[in-house]
Amino acid sequence: MKTVLVGVGQADGKLTTALSEFDERMGFGAVLDALAVNSASADLHPLELDTLLIGQDRVKGHGVGGDNELGAELMQEDIGELLGALDGRVTARTESIIVVAGLGGGTGSGGAPVVVNQLSRIYDVPVYALGVLPGRDEGTLAQVNAGRSLKTLLGHADATILIDNDAWKSSGESLSDGYDAINTNIARRVGLLLGAGEATQGVGESVVDTSEVINTLRSGGVAAIGYASAPAADDPADNVTTVMSAARNSLLTGLSLPGATSADTALLVTAGRPETLSRKGIEKARRWVETETGSMQVRGGDFPIESDRIAALTVLGGVERSERVERFLNRARQAIREQSTESATPAADKNFQNDELDGLF
Ligand code: GDP
Repeated sequence: MKTVLVGVGQADGKLTTALSEFDERMGFGAVLDALAVNSASADLHPLELDTLLIGQDRVKGHGVGGDNELGAELMQEDIGELLGALDGRVTARTESIIVVAGLGGGTGSGGAPVVVNQLSRIYDVPVYALGVLPGRDEGTLAQVNAGRSLKTLLGHADATILIDNDAWKSSGESLSDGYDAINTNIARRVGLLLGAGEATQGVGESVVDTSEVINTLRSGGVAAIGYASAPAADDPADNVTTVMSAARNSLLTGLSLPGATSADTALLVTAGRPETLSRKGIEKARRWVETETGSMQVRGGDFPIESDRIAALTVLGGVERSERVERFLNRARQAIREQSTESATPAADKNFQNDELDGLF
């Protein structure tokens, strides 16, 4: 899927870089262009991407702290510059735009919904959000910001792919080592998803194409991506269990939003050397995905790739009714109530005056 990436905020500059590098290393050519936007100039400097600084008049390149309402305002005020910067990057070849955002902060949390809203009005291609949920031990403000940002994104994006920052956390890890591991995991999943429609080696009717990805995400709402791989034998007859266990693990242990396996739609992409892929295993795995997700719309396809392993990449659409998303939204609502009783400062009061999750605009 030929895509233009727009990263908003600090996390997103790093993630956009990781995604662009993965795509380049794998030689997919799915990432056509990438732009990182921020209100903090220090976060843009280290990036080897094209960058755009917003809100210079108001915050002088110092960022917005955790104020996502200010993040949304700055983005709104400078949206013309962003659209100008994207002009010429989004071309007739572009099949989707992905706006990447860490939902718990300020610039990305507030700015990404504004960007998604504007881009989906202007461009005909789907505009997806790739949103990172804050970890459980991030503070109340991060939960509130993420709740409001997610609610706003859901109203404007063609689909919002969610990544839980607690998904790949291992104990004893520093925050930045942890982020590096998470970013690598995200880049692999999203990078393979984009690359899946770009398969160049081996042709056959079972090879997945971009329209399968777009149709799976068409149900809108929240989406999640799973991934797992296992060593492959040379004879496909010996790979029935391998395919099956890769598919199971991709949902049960490798999902970007752990536990969110009830879905409206699903796509199971099986990657590996074409001559090693077991059709019987793929059929079995697909039936298992149908049962596990409760979805009647499970698509499937191969991703021919030179590797001594077999990998399963799963995309789930419409997982917002899952327990994981409900738990997160309840926590954000709870955080808003706590903030409104605890806080006495006028600014915070303005932010959290409602006990329900309000959208950002
Ligand atoms: P912003 O620049 O104001 O948008 O805020 P940040 O991007 O610094 O942080 C927003 C949220 O993103 C944080 O609450 C974290 O949950 C998350 N975050 C920050 N850095 C990273 C990163 O490198 N990787 C991931 N996965 N999440 C991050």
